[in-house]
Amino acid sequence: MNPKQELGRRLQAGIKESEPMSLHTSWKVGGPADYYLLPADEGELQEIVRYGNKTGLPLFVFGNGTNLLVRDGGIRGLVVHLGAPFNYIYREGSSLRAGAGTPLTMLAREAAKEGLGGLGFGAGIPGSLGGALVMNAGAFGSYIGRLVSKIRLVRFDGKAITLGREDIVFGYRKSNLAEKGIIVEALLELGKGDSEELNREVEHCLAERRRRHPALPSAGSVFRNPPERPAGSLIEEAGGKGLSVGPARVSEKHANFIINPGGASAGDIEELIERVRRLVREKFAVELQAEVRIIGEKR
Ligand SMILES: Cc1cc2nc3c(=O)[nH]c(=O)nc-3n(C[C@H](O)[C@H](O)[C@H](O)COP(=O)(O)OP(=O)(O)OC[C@H]3O[C@@H](n4cnc5c(N)ncnc54)[C@H](O)[C@@H]3O)c2cc1C
Repeated sequence: MNPKQELGRRLQAGIKESEPMSLHTSWKVGGPADYYLLPADEGELQEIVRYGNKTGLPLFVFGNGTNLLVRDGGIRGLVVHLGAPFNYIYREGSSLRAGAGTPLTMLAREAAKEGLGGLGFGAGIPGSLGGALVMNAGAFGSYIGRLVSKIRLVRFDGKAITLGREDIVFGYRKSNLAEKGIIVEALLELGKGDSEELNREVEHCLAERRRRHPALPSAGSVFRNPPERPAGSLIEEAGGKGLSVGPARVSEKHANFIINPGGASAGDIEELIERVRRLVREKFAVELQAEVRIIGEKR
């Protein structure tokens, strides 16, 4: 029995075969996932993890696909996406408990509405809470890791556990969470604030993003900022703005963004990433590290 037959019988929400990842990534590129799974709850997620263990099929967790370059050959094995059933927010005192599938912008708006401060920076970051926690997403001098008090996840042996703050390590756009399992929900400790002021902060962050970032499909900042200087300014000064491979182009608005105006392949984007890296290496002897994660197989 193949995964579609075996898991399809057990999962309410179903399973898609050969699902084009270009439908799900913010860059709008990426070949097919062999099996794209949408668990309806934590129990189904555990079933999927155990099935992966039993069959030896690799398992990849996909959030909103806003920090991923999925190659044109796609992803072998199982891709699990925590969608609508994991999109929820509950208030608990001055904390919010939210599902991993909750969009960060929705969470920022809800916190502001509730008069809870600390999440305004997240408005406009297009990821899910799960992806934001793994990447320790941040902006405007703040980041999600500092708000975390507990995280519930399904470990790779299928067991569900809750991690305390002391079990989690956050760094610059990284954490130790992906190696621990699949995040199901998090409890974020927020401060009390004035709802109107917090709403204004949310609107300000959204407006700043519109002002600074290109509107065309991208994955946000491609490279991590090296200690010397922001990656964008190194790329701009090296003459990288407007550099292109096929339709993929380094944005004129923000040099650390690569945009897909339409028709680019993941191969074009990956090659452009390499060209930009080479340009900056030759000009400044700085080796840029990718912030976006490159996954899947080449065509
Ligand atoms: C226009 C634009 C602007 C952006 N601006 C910012 C910014 O200001 N700051 C910033 O930090 N980032 C920014 N990003 C990048 C991106 O939005 C963040 O990194 C975001 O946190 C990724 O979340 P995601 O749900 O899209 O994760 P994905 O890209 O789907 O996945 C990222 C990683 O997280 C893992 N993952 C996802 N969900 C889970 C889960 N539930 N459990 C375990 N692992 C999981 C994946 O396996 C993968 O390794 C921007 C992106 C775009 C397109």
